[in-house]
Amino acid sequence: MHLTGVIGQRRAVAQLEGEIQAQRLAHAYMFVGPGGVGRATTAQALFAAVNCTEPTPEGPCGHCGSCHRLAAGTHEDFLVLAPPSEARSSQIKVEAVREAIRATGFAPFGGGKRMILIKQAEHLNPASANALLKTLEEPPPNNILVLTVGDAKELLPTLVSRCRKVSFMPLTGEEIAAELVRRGEPEADARLKAGLAGGSLGRALQLDTAVLQADLERLVNQLTAGGQALEDWGFAEALVGTHRGSGGIDREGISQALDLLALYFRDAAVTAAGRGRMAWLPGPTAELNIADACRAFAQVRRTQGQILGNAAPELAMVVLLAGLKEAPKHA
Ligand SMILES: [Zn+2]
Repeated sequence: MHLTGVIGQRRAVAQLEGEIQAQRLAHAYMFVGPGGVGRATTAQALFAAVNCTEPTPEGPCGHCGSCHRLAAGTHEDFLVLAPPSEARSSQIKVEAVREAIRATGFAPFGGGKRMILIKQAEHLNPASANALLKTLEEPPPNNILVLTVGDAKELLPTLVSRCRKVSFMPLTGEEIAAELVRRGEPEADARLKAGLAGGSLGRALQLDTAVLQADLERLVNQLTAGGQALEDWGFAEALVGTHRGSGGIDREGISQALDLLALYFRDAAVTAAGRGRMAWLPGPTAELNIADACRAFAQVRRTQGQILGNAAPELAMVVLLAGLKEAPKHA
């Protein structure tokens, strides 16, 4: 993995390449930015760049022992800590941090530099963060710590102040779609996923086109079913129910389901403007004019805002459905 192969993130890559060339790498970095935009991939590329034993002018060679073991996931000097799951309550335990820190007491096995990559450092619990703090104060030579975090405000200020910051940005829809196509995804699917991924390639890769299409069809069917408020209520309850867990209602999840509908109306507007429709869209949007489609899009976005706020999600959904059904061509 070359730093130059990192998708998007030109500024972050330029910063790190400059520091490698000037031999001014920090002993601790904080890669700040949303998930799924390449923070961990960049850390891995940085590791490859500083440990390759036969580097070419373009970067690491890809075939020396270090490059080989890194690609195989068996490099003994590349240590990764991560929370066991995505759940907010999931923690990086102090034992895992202590074990990684113990390794820094020894010279790297490969003779180059060791990297400890701590993914989603906002999941460090107070004990873990404190254990790490001591190492950040007096770092043993030839060790690089990289913490990835969504928002630096979620970390202890003492931790933040000891790390050099590198900023990562959301990817553009074009960057994500192009990467999905490069990985063998059909163009239409790639564009659908890119539109829903919110700038995160990681999220785009997790989306399942068949599930998305089924979800969208259910929503559109409900819209075209006529004005039965009672049925709309049942539909809204069922939709909200699929996003209810032990931790309460997943408002983010409901909003993501509505992203599909927003995208649908955005594309309906594009279709009405004569730009050709996307293959995955179900039927009736072809009948919407531009003004109706734009109005519907705005209504969906407003409802998402309400649901992410504190509105009762079932009620917000029913109001949305009723509003959308008033659009002339959808009655
Ligand atoms: Zn190499």
